Amino acid sequence: MPRTSPPAASLHYRVEPADLHAHLYRVTLTIGQPETLQRLSLPVWIPGSYLVREFSKNLQRLSARQEGRALPVQQLDKCHWQVDCVPSSPLVVSYEVYAFDNSVRTAWLDTQRGFFNGTSLCLRAHGLESLPHALELIAGKHIAHWEAATALTPLKPGKKGFGTYLAADYDELVDCPVEMGSLWSGEFKAGGVPHRLVVAGTSESFDAQRLLADTQKICEATIRFWHEKPGATGRARTRPPHRSYLFMLNVVDDGYGGLEHRNSTALIASRRDLPRLGEARMGEGYQTLLGLISHEYFHTWNVKQLRPAEFTHYDYSGENYTQLLWFFEGFTSYYDDLLLRRAGVIDDGAYLKLLNKTINQVLQAPGREVQSVAQASFDAWVKYYRQDENTANATISYYTKGALVALCFDLTLRAEGQTTLDDVMRALWHRCKAGPMTEADFAAVLKELGGRSFARELAAWVHGTRELPLQDLLRKHGVDVAEDPAQLQQRLGLRVSEASGIVVKTVLRGGAAEQAGIAANDEWLGVEVGASAWRLAKLDDLTMYAGPHRKLTALVARDRRILRLDLNLPASVTTWRLVLRDAGQIRPWLG
Ligand SMILES: [Zn+2]
Repeated sequence: MPRTSPPAASLHYRVEPADLHAHLYRVTLTIGQPETLQRLSLPVWIPGSYLVREFSKNLQRLSARQEGRALPVQQLDKCHWQVDCVPSSPLVVSYEVYAFDNSVRTAWLDTQRGFFNGTSLCLRAHGLESLPHALELIAGKHIAHWEAATALTPLKPGKKGFGTYLAADYDELVDCPVEMGSLWSGEFKAGGVPHRLVVAGTSESFDAQRLLADTQKICEATIRFWHEKPGATGRARTRPPHRSYLFMLNVVDDGYGGLEHRNSTALIASRRDLPRLGEARMGEGYQTLLGLISHEYFHTWNVKQLRPAEFTHYDYSGENYTQLLWFFEGFTSYYDDLLLRRAGVIDDGAYLKLLNKTINQVLQAPGREVQSVAQASFDAWVKYYRQDENTANATISYYTKGALVALCFDLTLRAEGQTTLDDVMRALWHRCKAGPMTEADFAAVLKELGGRSFARELAAWVHGTRELPLQDLLRKHGVDVAEDPAQLQQRLGLRVSEASGIVVKTVLRGGAAEQAGIAANDEWLGVEVGASAWRLAKLDDLTMYAGPHRKLTALVARDRRILRLDLNLPASVTTWRLVLRDAGQIRPWLG
């Protein structure tokens, strides 16, 4: 609801989609009472995505005026400016931002749609960050049919969501992205809280009501998880941290991703993954989309409220290091799929398939023996977010292994019968007052609820690189592990792309391909088997030509030179297949 007596915002950003064909927003920032030497800067990163992205590279034509007079603007470095002005009258700063990145992390503008994060469009006025910030969204004449959606508080609502919104401070302003365009929009309540889902880019087959209903189930399960202790008596139900919530889903031909915010999320997904009218089955693509929705919604509690102590105040000017992404991304990844099961949108078999996939991703990454998840968290800025041909060998994902660390804690706690990871998460929420936390807080809650110290497990699973005790723990909860023959790429120890020829993308540490001397970027042309030589069209044809032979010669091209490499095809490389042995034993865990 709009506020009846609007507080005067000291900073006012007027955002206008100025040129749809040139993909340019025009931003006019008015600072009511500037500082004498007013510093301005644009963030170099967006919280939730741990890479320095240098958003200022898209900012141009920066100018400043006061009382109608142009002022000199001095650029101090790649993203800081300084304006020499007088504090007694408003300072007006104008600039343009080029917006042509169709992701959830920056900004986009064309004739179909607009989207932006404040970190891409809103200069930070140093020293004034804690004052109220107003955002005025202008609907241009060419886009009169567009709607706008944001989780900011409406101050002076205009037509179709345009108008003026208010943020309590700069942090809130840049934590509430804006979606504009021809939007499908639906609403529901979960836990008494109003939720809205807006979708851009859909086709005629989109089953909007199904997506809305499944999203509601996920939100309700997540709110129950954090705020209702099952079976507890006499304990007051706590309230969700948000008074409203907005899902902004951008549907494209090919894309996947999401970014969490305090009371909204920006999502991008493939059109093929949307539910279709007249189809009731749960496709893998739709399941992936629901997993993304579940993941970002869980973050509302786990990383936006409960968050690394290092993120108490974001530093927008550089890397913000933490060792805790295994907890905030990994544990969120554990619960995103688990809550799909608990919400009843997938069954036990589908859940175990998702878990199976995560386990095999970790077991197939040699980097798990090189890097702990705590190190992976700290290094996210230069490793996870800058993946290359060596990533699988040198790093481990704090998402996937972090999810398995959560699984190991949960199954250990359940096996010992004192508590569950669910209870630990809720206890952390209370202990840290829904705010900054450290690993010591997690260790303390584990000890308190689990009845013993878990220092050994933290050292081994979080700070160590030895294998996790997955098989043993799964067996205790009714799930057996069967070993199947691995696919050929895994058997050879490589990853290839077959888009244009067979091109090696990654050579896995210690595998047959590495022993043969195959390198990333090699084009695999053919194979010699006995007295015959064959041109390979697809890598999988290798086994057809090899027959019973284990010793082959791989013909690869590297820098136009053709190399003949002796390759030993290993007999037995296996992957895990989870098998449900006892549905009764799995019930307390999967709910
Ligand atoms: Zn996440």
